[in-house]
Amino acid sequence: MLEIKDLSVTYQSSDESYIALQNINLSLPSGGTCAIIGPSGCGKSTLLKVLAGIITDYEGTVLFDGNPILPSKQKIGFIPQNYGLLPWKNVYENICLGVKLKNRQLKVNKSSVEFMMRQLGIDGLEKRYPGELSGGQQQRVSLARSFLLKPDLLLMDEPFSALDAITREEIQDVFLEVWKRQAVSTILVTHYVEEAVYLGQKIIILSSHLGQVSKIIDNPLFGG
Ligand code: ADP
Ligand code: ADP
Repeated sequence: MLEIKDLSVTYQSSDESYIALQNINLSLPSGGTCAIIGPSGCGKSTLLKVLAGIITDYEGTVLFDGNPILPSKQKIGFIPQNYGLLPWKNVYENICLGVKLKNRQLKVNKSSVEFMMRQLGIDGLEKRYPGELSGGQQQRVSLARSFLLKPDLLLMDEPFSALDAITREEIQDVFLEVWKRQAVSTILVTHYVEEAVYLGQKIIILSSHLGQVSKIIDNPLFGG
């Protein structure tokens, strides 16, 4: 269970401050999915960065299963907008990286990596480097890495944006399949309404003014 209470984030620059999120309240049951949608600049990425532990300077409380959220305590998978791949590591190494960073002792199961790569349609690309991949392929490598980690909480920032429409639908369904199997609590940020409706059990609409929640919808059309 993820609980966000009265979360506010203010960015400080040298001469001014800017309120990016204001009094956000939100709870997500374990194993659920939540889509956050809203116009550019409304604070979507800021919210994910708080949950990922990248922004630590905030007001309010964020609890995961009753404990303050701390990436060192919980396994949190974060798929940033730019995929977060290391350019000097090949695809196979990038996929294993999430697991290795979290737990150096843990042996990466080669057949699970291969299975995940096949499922995401990137098998055969093991030896390539991120610079030799299309945006969509990089996005899939990033997804494979997160899925393999089996995170307690999966955070995705526009995860399907670089994919063409048909591939996007395919990968969304792969996502739903793995999500069901692993029962991973997921928060995804998107600016596609259809994506929010298909993938979010709960849909949070952020308003463009001062980063406030304008609506929370329990989605009857959820596709999973
Ligand atoms: P979204 O992901 O919805 O597009 P962001 O969370 O990236 O929105 O940004 C929310 C607001 O905070 C925007 O107006 C943006 O300009 C501002 N902002 C984001 N990052 C910073 C920063 N590091 N310093 C100052 N302002 C920022
Ligand atoms: P989980 O242990 O949560 O089920 P995994 O992603 O490790 O997560 O594997 C999920 C499922 O994927 C397995 O139970 C199995 O059905 C399938 N799977 C994993 N690796 C392979 C593989 N090499 N070949 C065929 N199926 C696999």
